[in-house]
Amino acid sequence: MPVLRVNDLPHVHLRPEQTVAEALAAMTRAFTEQGLDSPQRDARFLLQGLLGMDGAQLLSGSSRPLGTAADIVSDGVNRRLAHEPVSRILGRREFYGRMFTVTPDVLDPRPDTEAVIDLALDVIKSSGLSGRLLRIADIGTGSGILISTLLSELPDATGVATDVSLAALEVARGNADKLGVADRIEFVATSGLSGCAGPFDLIVSNPPYISEEEIVGLEREVKDFDPLLALVGGADGLDVYREIARNTLELQRPLRLVVEVGSTQADAVEELFAAVGARPLARRLDLGGHARAVAMEIHL
Ligand code: GLN
Repeated sequence: MPVLRVNDLPHVHLRPEQTVAEALAAMTRAFTEQGLDSPQRDARFLLQGLLGMDGAQLLSGSSRPLGTAADIVSDGVNRRLAHEPVSRILGRREFYGRMFTVTPDVLDPRPDTEAVIDLALDVIKSSGLSGRLLRIADIGTGSGILISTLLSELPDATGVATDVSLAALEVARGNADKLGVADRIEFVATSGLSGCAGPFDLIVSNPPYISEEEIVGLEREVKDFDPLLALVGGADGLDVYREIARNTLELQRPLRLVVEVGSTQADAVEELFAAVGARPLARRLDLGGHARAVAMEIHL
């Protein structure tokens, strides 16, 4: 059996006298050798984030020595070499133009999830709800990106954010607070929408939707760093949609839903909600061209 010696693990040690440009080159090389997906982009974002610089400052400061930041940068580089995503190392991620804190307790926000926001804002407009005092529920809020973004975009709306994880709710509250929308959100520790009376004009959710079988095949960035609770949706990945569908039976209608789905799940999710009287309104594609967000409406 091959033996993995600790000194075989990729490791980078940057010295204080090395310049920003040298660090960037060393990082890009190490990330490339490690086979990471976007070595150049990761090196730039990680270095910028760790040094507290933007892109222009990184360029203009490229001949500066790392100085006391050398250890912090080295540590960040070695974490990335162990497949930890840049957003987790930095503890923050931009979503829909706003910055969110990310901790080990929450799913790392994905750019694809912006499709849920776009579709939700479309549905609000096309249903003639713009300007109304909307009440929105976000099920399994995690870092709170969906509810906090929607309430930032809709200054008169209020909402409820649920999660089974108290730790996640704390992160969501902190993010909402920084964006100035926390006083319009009620944070509830519960499964689905259990115990939340409504009425709601709109339900949004990015539930866990990976099947138990698929989880082993995911990249290390996901399966080793995102909380499993935020990823796995039961044997076929659809358990939480079923729970949300059941929850809607208790709620006042009309009701609209915009949910994120796995890249092959749009039909199955629409079908499942049809059983509780929902009809499909629209879909939105993600950056890879898959149906990623599904909008539905439930009348009487
Ligand atoms: N979009 C994530 C992924 O495919 C999963 C998020 C989720 O289950 N809601 O890695």
